[in-house]
Amino acid sequence: MSKDDIFEALEDYFKYESDIPDIFKTEQGTYFKTCISCDVNVVESGEPYMIEKAVKRYSNMDGVEVVIFEYAICSKCAEKMRKSLSRESLQRLEKHFMEKANWDGKMNLLSKEKPPKVADFIGDCIFTGKSINDKEIDEYQVVGYFQGDKLRLDRMPFMMCSAAAEEIGDLLSAKTKDELDGFIDDNFGLPPEWKMALKERDFVLV
Ligand SMILES: [Zn+2]
Repeated sequence: MSKDDIFEALEDYFKYESDIPDIFKTEQGTYFKTCISCDVNVVESGEPYMIEKAVKRYSNMDGVEVVIFEYAICSKCAEKMRKSLSRESLQRLEKHFMEKANWDGKMNLLSKEKPPKVADFIGDCIFTGKSINDKEIDEYQVVGYFQGDKLRLDRMPFMMCSAAAEEIGDLLSAKTKDELDGFIDDNFGLPPEWKMALKERDFVLV
């Protein structure tokens, strides 16, 4: 594609928004309504927000899936969480996301005639390329960005398998993990077992 074509495709793409797919709804099948940290109604506020969901899959039980944790966080609180990290950790994480994730492959979806589908973005791990249906994946996380009752595509939703999440955990210093754990304890209204699962995953959104 020429540069102009890419800009044109990008422009169309940024206009594209999608109804919230089931994978980004709660276990009960409803919209996430409140920020996990400040309790603002994320759908009504009109502010951008993010949803993260972690799922465990039991391949020995016909691939039954169980949500390990799920939450929505408003952009203001997500920013606060970022600020709880040291500069070094943040830089390492950003570098990892920029260099190791296959954003280019996802950008190529933009050149197609019809608008990309959400499944195109979250159907495989952004780091390893493994399909979400790969039997080797026993855990995965999906992350998406929203406004009101729409999924926004100006920041791509993505899926990450547990192997990729572990690699990210390895990038964080012990101090950073403590800081993050503290932030989660103080600010996240999640059930204790979900908090634990979130901490164990060492996953930070950048
Ligand atoms: Zn908030």
